[in-house]
Amino acid sequence: MFHPECSSEVVAGVLVGNQWLAGGPTLEVFNPSTEDRLATVSTGDSQTVDLAVQSAAQAFAAWSSSAGALRGELLARIAEGVRQNRQHLMTLQSRNNGKPLAEAGLDVDDVIATFEYYADLARDLDATQDRGVALPSSDFAARLRREPCGVVALIVPWNFPMVTTAWKLAPALAAGCTVVLKPSEVTPLPELALVRIMLDAGLPPGVLNVVCGTGIAVGAPLSSHPQVAKISFTGSNAVGVQVMQRAAETVKGVSLELGGKSSLIVLEDADLELAVELACAGGFYNAGQMCSATSRVLVAEQLADAFVEKVKSRAQAICVGDPFDEGVQLGPLVNRAQYDRVMTHIARGLTAGARLECGGRRPEGLDRGFYIAPTVFTEVALDSSVWNEEIFGPVICIRRFSSPAEAIALANQSDFGLVATVVSRNLDSANHVADALQVGMVWINAPQVIFPQTAWGGYKQSSIGRELGPWGLAAFQELKHVVRAV
Ligand code: NAD
Repeated sequence: MFHPECSSEVVAGVLVGNQWLAGGPTLEVFNPSTEDRLATVSTGDSQTVDLAVQSAAQAFAAWSSSAGALRGELLARIAEGVRQNRQHLMTLQSRNNGKPLAEAGLDVDDVIATFEYYADLARDLDATQDRGVALPSSDFAARLRREPCGVVALIVPWNFPMVTTAWKLAPALAAGCTVVLKPSEVTPLPELALVRIMLDAGLPPGVLNVVCGTGIAVGAPLSSHPQVAKISFTGSNAVGVQVMQRAAETVKGVSLELGGKSSLIVLEDADLELAVELACAGGFYNAGQMCSATSRVLVAEQLADAFVEKVKSRAQAICVGDPFDEGVQLGPLVNRAQYDRVMTHIARGLTAGARLECGGRRPEGLDRGFYIAPTVFTEVALDSSVWNEEIFGPVICIRRFSSPAEAIALANQSDFGLVATVVSRNLDSANHVADALQVGMVWINAPQVIFPQTAWGGYKQSSIGRELGPWGLAAFQELKHVVRAV
């Protein structure tokens, strides 16, 4: 098994044609709960990117014309490989990213479910390919083909390594695309372990190529490479814009999964205990480092005082600590840069006059590691940065509303539109609010469950396109109609 965290050697971070390439600049990978170095990983540059793209281009003809059933079998074997290595992947994920072990387990389960789902969709492709199209004229006949769009570049962040990767890799491979993957430079270890499992499952050479490295050295040349047909990117809006600009030079397709500033709306008739539970889960899961964090909490005036008190005591009771310790519910932020960014947001919230109910600082007794206590703000100004900008840390802001219409208006007043949660005992009221929100996913009285069958992505500046479901597969396909005279 692959144990990079125990290795004093440089971990290979560049895979081309199923060969791990040595050499190249290296980067250090850290354990966010101890701040210790975990591993040193070799990386690539623009030349390595070119080699990887050439390798994917060479493999494309055979892979794209292989039967969907064959690709499906391979994806199913990958899912099985991930299942067999569940414990190891969880450990690596927690060690590199800092998330509590139980959360890492849910990540691995999501990866398995995603590969299994797209294994089925790949198998279905054979039966639906070349399906006839009904035409209004008997002089012509038409058939529809769905063809893989070519060599695709997948660029992913650090907050759900393996998961965001699986959401791209599984449908891309199912569609018949060949791939160059660029993991985040912050969390390459779980990604590289997943890649090794994929190779063991029998992936042909060149179908999956990997280039670890920084955004500038690897992500930028990958985004502008003329032989890349499509880029699927998950990350920040600032970088998403740059990726799109580079892609525009050669008119590449782009799918973007970017930031969020999502709302949790607690209606007057909500179950208070459930609302408190969902508010804390939506704000503090993965230390709040979620594009889907419901960091804007809107609560009906009538419930507000009791709700704030309960959220505050629940937040203060959250067990913060080492991801491997029993009972820990909230781990460290991923690195020093993220810790500093979140603390800056908190300071700006205070300057803007928000009331700090709890948190806002390093928890007692945790002197090492990038820990921030669960933080709750109230009396938050509508024009303040904590209310409007993605914080990506364990910080929630609570505001009151006097009518559902006001809650909807406040939730929709955002540059983002990824997700929302509605809490209400009345399904009609909850559905009314859900339907009026400009977001791609709404949960009613439910935690943030994600199924491979439901689309992921949002409105406005949160996304271009959708991942998961058949839409995730379509993102890697071109449509072709063949029309003939009869
Ligand atoms: P980031 O944008 O800094 O980095 C994402 C990836 O892009 C990394 O692999 C990075 O190396 C690469 N990159 C950096 N500069 C690049 C460049 N110039 N060209 C090409 N690639 C470049 O994001 P992050 O800090 O890793 O992740 C946090 C962000 O990701 C948050 O904004 C979060 O909302 C977003 N995110 C969104 C979703 C979603 O589904 N919408 C999911 C997870 C994370």
